[in-house]
Amino acid sequence: MIFTPQTYKLPDIPQQPFIDVAEIESFLRGNKPSTKEVTEVIVKSLNKERLSMQDTATLIKADDAESVALIKQAARELKRQVYGNRIVLFAPLYVGNYCMNNCAYCGFRAGNKEAVRTTLSREQLIREVEALEDEGQKRLILVFGEHASYTPQFIADTARTVYGVKKGHGEIRRLNINAAPLDIEGFRTVKEAGIGTYQIFQETYHPEAYKRYHPSGPKKDYHYRLTALDRAQEAGLDDVGIGALFGLYDWKFETLALLRHVNHLEACYNVGPHTISFPRMQAASNVAFDKQYAVSDDDFVRMVAILRLAVPYTGLICTAREKAEVRREVLQYGVSQIDGGTKLEIGAYAEDLHNEQNLQREQFHINDSRSLHHVIEQLLDDGYLPSFCTACYRKGRTGEHFMEFSVPGFIKRFCTPNAIFTLAEYLEDYASEAQQQKGYALIEEQLARLEAPVAAQVKATLERIRKGERDLYL
Ligand code: SAM
Ligand code: SF4
Repeated sequence: MIFTPQTYKLPDIPQQPFIDVAEIESFLRGNKPSTKEVTEVIVKSLNKERLSMQDTATLIKADDAESVALIKQAARELKRQVYGNRIVLFAPLYVGNYCMNNCAYCGFRAGNKEAVRTTLSREQLIREVEALEDEGQKRLILVFGEHASYTPQFIADTARTVYGVKKGHGEIRRLNINAAPLDIEGFRTVKEAGIGTYQIFQETYHPEAYKRYHPSGPKKDYHYRLTALDRAQEAGLDDVGIGALFGLYDWKFETLALLRHVNHLEACYNVGPHTISFPRMQAASNVAFDKQYAVSDDDFVRMVAILRLAVPYTGLICTAREKAEVRREVLQYGVSQIDGGTKLEIGAYAEDLHNEQNLQREQFHINDSRSLHHVIEQLLDDGYLPSFCTACYRKGRTGEHFMEFSVPGFIKRFCTPNAIFTLAEYLEDYASEAQQQKGYALIEEQLARLEAPVAAQVKATLERIRKGERDLYL
């Protein structure tokens, strides 16, 4: 018998959703753990054993000052071991804000009549990408509202256009996507355009809360969204990013639910998400925000440290929604990727659109509007190695975070050299003289920590970059 959508019938076994509210709530109940219990979980994590839901709940419930200090210290140590001092940089590029949904928290929601709706034309898109390349960006994430006109083919065509824009030494080497959930065929179409990560945030994993925030439009369907990245996997798109919008529901519940989502993807597809995002609610055009579940800075930092310990090899992203000081703080405890030079108003990279009317073209307000130059300056001052590296993805080494974690010496052999190369390119092509000096001083420090043969190889490659060669990687 040939199965068609009409003849195929799902077996009559009740499908178990992988988010079980009662299960998550049961982990969060109970007494505060003792320092001994917290320490045991921390030791397990530092020994590179994966934490269970129960272990992670132990860390979440430990809110006394001593336990929190232990958790943060351990997260800092684990981060250093797994990632070294690299920080990956990217920028978001908003393509269009037409939207059929009515997410209560978002300036783009269909019901917000004050939103100025636009979709970048091909020419505008090219101008935006050129402006981003002129700043030194190499990695972008394209962001779309959810609308019938943003079809998989449109997303794929947009990606191909972006990859095709090359200005001077500028080019975009990795393009991630944040857009609506697709069907399997749709994910296939987008994958064929050579995208990196496809990000979809569940917003809140709590079904009842989800219902309240998503009254209409396709996004109303909690389950279709929850299973989106399963369809991506079915389509062969195994590089996916998950996230929750913090402030919609209890952060403790969302943190455990994110871990449950990671476990689900690992169990079913043998590969966890590439990244986890944890945007916090920000003010947005015509949004009345109920503060009941607002997450304090202290809890936000704690949550990042706990996630770091729970999922050591998953990239953690903190965007310019957060203030510079908060970003600086969470970089210590787990965040591995940040955006720099971010502008959310559609079309704002190429034109200066910072006026009142154009504020209506942004989805929400950001709190870190520093230029890429300034973000890099602070990273260098703090001893981080800014990286635009795209090597693993282009060499087909998917699951690279797992390699970083599990292959001894992987960071020193591959990650640090590649990060150095991309920083050197940036310094040569886009940095001021003062920043060049600062950047090369940091590179010298890094070289001193590499084994002699690797350091020699890196020095030789740096010489080629100084002479004008580009896109060299291991
Ligand atoms: N329309 C697609 C969707 O909803 O999946 C694309 C994503 S939307 C343009 C990007 C993300 O921004 C959302 O998934 C949501 O988590 C976040 N977001 C929306 N409104 C926000 C707000 N007021 N403050 C902070 N983040 C917000
Ligand atoms: Fe539309 Fe996404 Fe905003 Fe919801 S979050 S209104 S789907 S753009």
